[in-house]
Amino acid sequence: MESMGQNEEHPASYEITLPQRTLLVLCGSAGCGKSTFASQVLKQQRPPLQPTAIVSSDHCRAIICDDENNQQVNRDTFDLFYYIIHKRMFQNRFTIADSTALQLETRQRLLGLGKRHYYTTCILIFNIEEQLCIQRDSQRQRTVGSQVIAYHSGLLQEAMREIPGEGWDQVHVLTAERQASVRFL
Ligand code: GDP
Ligand code: MG
Repeated sequence: MESMGQNEEHPASYEITLPQRTLLVLCGSAGCGKSTFASQVLKQQRPPLQPTAIVSSDHCRAIICDDENNQQVNRDTFDLFYYIIHKRMFQNRFTIADSTALQLETRQRLLGLGKRHYYTTCILIFNIEEQLCIQRDSQRQRTVGSQVIAYHSGLLQEAMREIPGEGWDQVHVLTAERQASVRFL
């Protein structure tokens, strides 16, 4: 298997520098590589960070109903998602919010939590082409399908217009050619 960052595209990588008390919000379509990126961030640190630094909406959904795909429990899923993030911030823990964050409401909730705890808020937008997301999605075990990804791509365009004015401390845009690593101050 190809290792990330050294694949056929030879993507350029740059470094994102963050304080420990940061809420790192991932934003992008299903299949764009958010969860993969989140686990790479853990491994990039010495010693590596615990997997619990990642709060994933898919995992919250599974905790509630044993099914990562069940969209019927969205409200409870996100209640739990925000609640865990909020509780981690009381403990001053670095936290990665792994959800699509394509809805304005989600971003506002996350940004509000960050500000309330005087955290640095950093959002990473995965600007990955729809076709590449569909291809990556089709190659993984749990697929969401091309219709969902097409819908997400529309939301992503809107999100990219809105995010610069939302009040995040740091905004980064990643592409298939432009990847990033994270290090702490
Ligand atoms: P998410 O839905 O945004 O969390 O996407 P995932 O992290 O689950 O990635 C979807 C699929 O794409 C997985 O099979 C990953 O192994 C693969 N993938 C993620 N990032 C990359 C990347 O940078 N390069 C390549 N070639 N594949 C990737
Ligand atoms: Mg994921």
